Amino acid sequence: MARTPEPDEPQAGAADAARPAARKVTRHRGEGQWAMGHHTPLNSNEQFKKDDDGLNVRTRIETIYSKSGFRSIDPADLRGRMRWWGLYTQRRQGIDGGRTAILEPHELEDEYFMLRVRIDGGQLTVAQLRAIGEASEQYARGTADVTDRQNVQFHWVRIEDVPAIWEKLESVGLSTTEACGDCPRVVIGSPVAGIAADEIIDGSWAIDEINRKYIGNPEYSNLPRKFKTAISGSPLLDVVHEINDIAFVGVVHPEHGPGFDLWVGGGLSTNPKLGVRLGAWVPLADVPDVWAGVIGIFRDYGYRRLRNRARLKFLVADWGPAKFRQVLQDEYLKRELTDGPGPEQPAGRWRDHVGVHPQNDGRFYVGFAPKVGRLNGKLIQQVADLAAEHGSGRVATTVEQKLIVLDVEQDRIDSLVAGLEALDLRVNPSTFRRGTLACTGIEYCKLAIVDTKDRGRTLIEELERRLPEFDEPLSININGCPNACARIQTADIGLKGQLVTDENGQQVEGFQVHLGGSLGFENAAFGRKIRGLKVTSAELPDYVERLLTRYQADRQDDERFA
Ligand code: SF4
Repeated sequence: MARTPEPDEPQAGAADAARPAARKVTRHRGEGQWAMGHHTPLNSNEQFKKDDDGLNVRTRIETIYSKSGFRSIDPADLRGRMRWWGLYTQRRQGIDGGRTAILEPHELEDEYFMLRVRIDGGQLTVAQLRAIGEASEQYARGTADVTDRQNVQFHWVRIEDVPAIWEKLESVGLSTTEACGDCPRVVIGSPVAGIAADEIIDGSWAIDEINRKYIGNPEYSNLPRKFKTAISGSPLLDVVHEINDIAFVGVVHPEHGPGFDLWVGGGLSTNPKLGVRLGAWVPLADVPDVWAGVIGIFRDYGYRRLRNRARLKFLVADWGPAKFRQVLQDEYLKRELTDGPGPEQPAGRWRDHVGVHPQNDGRFYVGFAPKVGRLNGKLIQQVADLAAEHGSGRVATTVEQKLIVLDVEQDRIDSLVAGLEALDLRVNPSTFRRGTLACTGIEYCKLAIVDTKDRGRTLIEELERRLPEFDEPLSININGCPNACARIQTADIGLKGQLVTDENGQQVEGFQVHLGGSLGFENAAFGRKIRGLKVTSAELPDYVERLLTRYQADRQDDERFA
């Protein structure tokens, strides 16, 4: 097994030149920061990362595990390094949420995997969609969900089939490299980059360049935890930039013109924090270098003792934006950044690009809504056919679990819309279908306590039936556990899965309710947990109906739900 170099050993790569020498500190000395000279792993995750780089597991999957089967997999690979290639073991079927917290990991998992395909910038060609659809049908029992980070996830994947899936995906330019793990995850981007009529700046080049230079690069493959990136030049602020570790948001500098406003330190889960502006304007050409500087700070100064304090947001909170910018400039970039403005408040609340919208070239893009991101292999291939027949063959995924067919001539719109609607992919969806997100949940996730996808679908259908006139923008985000994969803290109605006590005193699936969260430059805020307000899964449609009915009855003027 290859050995990971000590962090302080000489290593190849440009980032080394920028890596600071160990220094004396008085604060956070014991948090495992490499830059402070702490190179002894302080927990089992740091140990397995030091023992061998997560990227190296691919060779073992191809040469050993896929040939010898599930039981041949080294546990440190199975529950650790395989994430670096997008693989998580799947929840064993039939284990209820009450046992999630008490079973050992090996008791919760079965011999199948979730496999995440990264789709940087959300951009897909028809050939890529077809490859995803075929892989889903051949190797994943038809599963294929669109996530709220523009990825696609398969379930029921056997280790024996992973090399064949990689071959199929990579033959069309897709990859699962660093789709999970303590490394730079998918770079999310505006799904309508380069074509939107209202775009401030197209960030596509920077996304491609970050991918080319840094994804799968061992210089950045051992981070304290995951590192999430968002880049968008859309005035709609369409990449939830406030909750990424780093975000580049399109702005116009009064002297220098279009560029990006730099944000760092956002993240949800426990101790959620909104990202902060560094007050710096970054031209497109500098985005990859600035990205490398920020991720370098995270790698070197990030806290590695406790997993729940290891995200960049904790370092940013401790340092504050002024010190963070100073360290970035002095130790990593070796130059000053240019001061710049922040983004303006977007005009509308929907940021999902659903519906028919004009492009900057006279054509149109058409966004549509499946229910809670659930697709399947056959449906994906049907979408590919429609995109090929009606557009230029390009489709994009959004951070709202929606999709968009790009480059449609005006006289082809009606036919495309009819084709999508016939597949129950709504171009003019109800508020509830449009605004409801759901994470993976108990169907496949080992950490889940409750079902989410089916609950979400039922909720949408019930609310469409009971409140057909309700047409205000509204977000309902459903999580299967206290984590934040479906961003519950940022929703108008956030539902955190847990066991609750029903009217008969029985422990049943249900949700803790959070209300009033929202993202958006001026009014970004986390929803408030309403103490004691818990609903059973069965009561959920009744509860949301009561809440919205009362809001409609009591609202004043144009008062928003939040
Ligand atoms: Fe799993 Fe919890 Fe994330 Fe949902 S929020 S996918 S249940 S870890």
